[in-house]
Amino acid sequence: MNPKKRQHFKKLLLAELRRHAQHIDDEQARALDITNDDVKDSDQALHDMIQGLALKLSDNESKMVADIDQALMRMEEGSYGKCVRCGREIDERRLEALPTARYDAACQAEVEAAKGQRAGPSL
Ligand SMILES: [Zn+2]
Repeated sequence: MNPKKRQHFKKLLLAELRRHAQHIDDEQARALDITNDDVKDSDQALHDMIQGLALKLSDNESKMVADIDQALMRMEEGSYGKCVRCGREIDERRLEALPTARYDAACQAEVEAAKGQRAGPSL
């Protein structure tokens, strides 16, 4: 994935993050606006902010925020946009729809099929 594409998806992730931040804290949402204007490849402060944000959100939302955080970390490592299961590039249309996607479509289907076969809680 070229740097321009990566920045595009980072902006999508940050926009998503800001949407969650607005639910609890205008101050943090504004702080994210600043971050969004100055997109860096590595940002520990952003990571810390996300961790703080996740603590304040409901379970469901904090999971989504954690997914965004993980996607941003994969971006820093340079593995963003690759399936964590098979290593193939994830289709960009899929990333547009779901910027936090960890799997390509084929692996997602397999992971979900495996979940469906297992009875009881997934953890
Ligand atoms: Zn895969």
